Amino acid sequence: MIDVRRVSRVYRPAADLEVHALRDVSLRIGRGELVAIMGSSGSGKSTLMHILGCLDAPTAGRYLLDGIDVADAHEDDLSDLRNRKIGFVFQAFNLVPRTSALSNVELPLAYAGVPRAERRRRAEAALGAVGMAKRLDHLPSELSGGQQQRVAVARAIVTDPALVLADEPTGNLDSHTTEEVLRIFDELHEQGRTIVLITHEDEVAAHAGRVIRLGDGQVLSDSAHPPVTATAGERAA
Ligand code: ADP
Ligand code: MG
Repeated sequence: MIDVRRVSRVYRPAADLEVHALRDVSLRIGRGELVAIMGSSGSGKSTLMHILGCLDAPTAGRYLLDGIDVADAHEDDLSDLRNRKIGFVFQAFNLVPRTSALSNVELPLAYAGVPRAERRRRAEAALGAVGMAKRLDHLPSELSGGQQQRVAVARAIVTDPALVLADEPTGNLDSHTTEEVLRIFDELHEQGRTIVLITHEDEVAAHAGRVIRLGDGQVLSDSAHPPVTATAGERAA
């Protein structure tokens, strides 16, 4: 499903400054895998997630999503692809304030042009799936952190995406709430979705069948494959 081929991403925050956030990263993730991506702060995790989610493009290398080279797709097709195939969950929940849980979850369906009645039905079902059926009319400010993240997960899955990308989804939650949210990811995985979970918590990574470690923009190890011992220079030689 995910095929990253020698991808690099260089940020140029100023004319005389280059930040090599990803260096020559290659990895493949199959349909239905639950993968944890780990690495210290600044190692390139979010940059990789943005590329996997078609929110950002590589500086070099190729990214194929379901066999489609993202670089060849037009922006309209890309946003359509994002809408249909990918659900995002962020550390900071990113719910729309002063807007009910139900309306927050309906939002991606509204963008996709789904009629109102069906929008409501599907949003209610998604909120039910994360145990929030009794909080439909609550505003984000009336919900705990764990409840807000459940609403965010419902919003991510309401379009029935094949791929769910989560960037430190439990980073703002206590350990009990972390467990609850992880259980939801486990269920999504059992339903056959592909899940990529960025985390720096071992407890969270333990849920994944596969752990990819990033360091300084490179893949240091991938538990699905033998550990990489050669340096990038040696591999290229
Ligand atoms: P992580 O998510 O693992 O903490 P990031 O992917 O956010 O790492 O960042 C990787 C590197 O790229 C860091 O050195 C970071 O400072 C830099 N970086 C990230 N986003 C930008 C940006 N928009 N402009 C410039 N540098 C950035
Ligand atoms: Mg990050």
